[in-house]
Amino acid sequence: MTYTGAKVELEIEKIPNGLENPEWPLLIAGPCSAESEEQLMDTAQRLIATKRISAFRAGIWKPRTRPNSFEGIGVKGLPWMQEVKRKTGLRIATEVANAEHVELALKYGVDILWIGARTSANPFSVQEIADSLKGVDVAVLIKNPVNPDTELWIGALERINKAGIKKLAAIHRGFSSHEKSIFRNSPMWNIPIELKSACPELPIICDPSHICGNTELIPFISQKALDMNVDGLMIESHNNPPCAWSDAKQQLLPEQYGELIYGLLLRSASMKGEAQTILSELRENIDRLDDEIIQKLSLRMKISSKIGEYKKENNVTILQMDRWKNIIDNRINMGKAMGLSENFLKEYLELVHQESINVQSNVMNEKKS
Ligand code: PEP
Ligand code: MN
Repeated sequence: MTYTGAKVELEIEKIPNGLENPEWPLLIAGPCSAESEEQLMDTAQRLIATKRISAFRAGIWKPRTRPNSFEGIGVKGLPWMQEVKRKTGLRIATEVANAEHVELALKYGVDILWIGARTSANPFSVQEIADSLKGVDVAVLIKNPVNPDTELWIGALERINKAGIKKLAAIHRGFSSHEKSIFRNSPMWNIPIELKSACPELPIICDPSHICGNTELIPFISQKALDMNVDGLMIESHNNPPCAWSDAKQQLLPEQYGELIYGLLLRSASMKGEAQTILSELRENIDRLDDEIIQKLSLRMKISSKIGEYKKENNVTILQMDRWKNIIDNRINMGKAMGLSENFLKEYLELVHQESINVQSNVMNEKKS
């Protein structure tokens, strides 16, 4: 369902970031899953050494898309979390998917609950959680539903807010999509932007780890999120990522997390409230389009590399003049019809073609050795 554009009334109270500068974003970090007390404590202590962490996260119950993956350590991990809180003074955060999880998490002093993407897509589950939160003062973060549906996300926020939870924020973790993408979950920035315009006082936290699905893209998405004025980041960090029991590819060492955070440009507080000028809106559009162009170019080169493998297997030469001539004529005509100059199109296509040939010949030579 598409978002109607109507304003949404939520009663919001700020969740303090607990950092040296109260204007900095809320920084939540920790492993995807709790695995052992040592893993949690070692990770938390190394994270706290960065001095850039507001709360420590770890999944106790893991909603997995397919059975037979690690489904979480369960209630036995809660005393470990409590010990992390006692030793480090960090607030602790975990995912809840039903009333029983809420009750247990609260019993063990969990400060921040989050509702995962698979749960926030289900109004029955969200309502059950909301009912179990009546009269409780705890912070609740709601991840976007797996599907790009702003209304469903808003509905989940409204249900929890109506139960009396004011320390409320949304987490943008990207969306499932059939379109091939370099991301694990496509960011579809227009959805969190829609949410923010429906409810400007609602804080939005970005989860680059689940958007990217790998560590390489995390700095880029984190900076992009800050540039879009998000109010916080949630990032997965593990003391031994390759051996993590879930989401091993996307977790950073605590020290890498520190490097990431120190490398980000934080916007100054004074910029936040300023009305956006037309120029900066136009620049944001350009940034978005450049992102898309780079993503598409990357996909194009990946296909070139597959073609290289195929040509090698079938003993075909890299350069096929007919095909190339066809590409040039066809793309130039299309581009000209869209108002681009012939010179620019020629140069651009030459560059792309050259890079494509490089990629293919790398693949073919690699296979020779
Ligand atoms: C998580 O935060 O580890 C998690 C399971 O996230 P999501 O609900 O976004 O998939
Ligand atoms: Mn995870």
